[in-house]
Amino acid sequence: MTFRPPFFFLLLAALIWPPLAQAGTILKPVRVTQDIWALVGQTGPRTRQNFALNATFGVIATKDGVILVDSGASAASAKVIDLAVRVATGKPVKWVINTGAQDHRWLGNGYFAAQGAKIIALKRTVKSQKAFAAGHMKRLKAVLKKRLAGTKPVFAAPALDTGHARLELGGVKLEIIWPGPAHFPSDAIVWLPDERTVFTGDLVFMDRMLGVLDQISDTAKWSKAFKRMAVLRPVHVIPGHGAPGPLARARLDTGDYLAWLVRTLTPLVADMTPLEDVLAKYRQTPAPFRHLQHHEIWHPTNVARTYVQLENAGLE
Ligand SMILES: [Zn+2]
Repeated sequence: MTFRPPFFFLLLAALIWPPLAQAGTILKPVRVTQDIWALVGQTGPRTRQNFALNATFGVIATKDGVILVDSGASAASAKVIDLAVRVATGKPVKWVINTGAQDHRWLGNGYFAAQGAKIIALKRTVKSQKAFAAGHMKRLKAVLKKRLAGTKPVFAAPALDTGHARLELGGVKLEIIWPGPAHFPSDAIVWLPDERTVFTGDLVFMDRMLGVLDQISDTAKWSKAFKRMAVLRPVHVIPGHGAPGPLARARLDTGDYLAWLVRTLTPLVADMTPLEDVLAKYRQTPAPFRHLQHHEIWHPTNVARTYVQLENAGLE
């Protein structure tokens, strides 16, 4: 298609569907390289106003159309992403890669599939999406209400039956890699070796403190998965939450914090220090991580959940 200036899309979209006029305030486009953008959502909770787009999405422009990394939490939020992609690149989405199983990674698949895009994901990620779909739809309904209308779980078919896929889309070489269990057990990362750029999905949180999810995340394994990503030595890291940055920033905001949790709590579990004593001692966020948004809420929760995980792992 021919390039149209951004205001054309914004004007057209606002006429068709007024909520789209807010798209620019919901997702902030950040250009990372000539052909790569991050669409950075708010770092607070999911709301009806932000279309549950409290996450970051990846955009790669190719000669044949756009590769979108993660499709949003609903059909309506996919529409918001679609507009942001067109404003940034002037091109339609031709491929959607899902990095994960959390709602904002893939519940917009149906919208993009209906526009003719191909959905791509690892088989293990799809299996995980199927396990979480009903629970995520139920929780989104309570937040988005009518803005969840038209959303149906749609999966990559056939999915890629490997832990490390190598693809070439629109002349762009990319790899989809499962680094091991992390925030979710079967999430993947997308690596562009020629651009030295990694789209981490929920493996990396920047600007805000990561959340260890009860019975879903595994902090010790997540810490190892982060190290497997870091071995790639990316120049640009596009995180699952927060603005893009260098690997040093990803270490500061995610890798070092995960390592701190494991290093600090492992000896306390071994000593059978009561959890209430651990919480009393480590309620305050350590100084290196106090710059992270929402750390006051998440840090005590992360300590408690990691302690219980390490305790259970010791009993296995
Ligand atoms: Zn997430």
